[in-house]
Amino acid sequence: MNMMSSNLVPAGRPVISCANVSARYGRITVVSNVTLHVVPGEMIAVLGANGAGKSSLLGSIAGTVSGSGRIEINGRQVESYPSHKRAISGLSLVPEQRRNVFAAMTVKENIDLGLRLLPLSEREAQRDFIMELFPILKERQAAGAGMLSGGEQQMLAISLALGRKPDVMIFDEPTQGLAPAVFDTLQHAFSALKQRGLAMILAEQNVPFAARVADRFVILSQGSIVREGPGSDLANPEDIAEVFLGSK
Ligand code: ATP
Repeated sequence: MNMMSSNLVPAGRPVISCANVSARYGRITVVSNVTLHVVPGEMIAVLGANGAGKSSLLGSIAGTVSGSGRIEINGRQVESYPSHKRAISGLSLVPEQRRNVFAAMTVKENIDLGLRLLPLSEREAQRDFIMELFPILKERQAAGAGMLSGGEQQMLAISLALGRKPDVMIFDEPTQGLAPAVFDTLQHAFSALKQRGLAMILAEQNVPFAARVADRFVILSQGSIVREGPGSDLANPEDIAEVFLGSK
């Protein structure tokens, strides 16, 4: 297999730069030598089959999984920071399966919780931005978060992560288990976030969805980048699927 690092450096100064990033559990290394850069308003998709190392890579970048390598956010080196300090530096992770929604609280309470670290003077505008991004959450403000559909909970998880106005957002398989009807809403939201200049990393197994939203992609296999390219290359999912399976 032809191993490579993502050296397709986009135009503009990266908001996040990862160089030779690895991830490990105890003594087992599951991701190695991943290099990628994301500029403002750009989304890069990290594709790969089950177990390819997508979640581990995101965890290593966010500081929730052990690893090594150099990680810079807005030019500041953060790899020695614990996850909460990386968050303060501008990075927000939306974990797999909406694990950061507080089911016993209302939708509004969840959103306000996300906003709590923002200066008071900025909270209202950010709340308005979130409600505009996901109007259904505005309608359902008083509902218990645990009563929301899967798609609405994913929107709420993204809203929570948006609370502190991050510069970089990382999404771990946001479409997993969701009805395709929600994909349009997510696509629209990602496009609004791009317009705001956020840099985004999206782990996905759903190649057609990644094709709709990603500007560039990398494919992980056994923890290494085996292919990369512009999002437009994802228009031929069969070709990509063969890379997933390791036959190309
Ligand atoms: P999926 O799409 O199924 O989430 P993935 O591409 O995100 O897959 P990872 O979950 O990062 O892949 O898994 C990469 C490798 O690390 C796999 O071999 C997996 O078994 C292993 N792994 C994941 N989590 C742990 C853990 N907590 N302890 C030990 N090994 C782990």
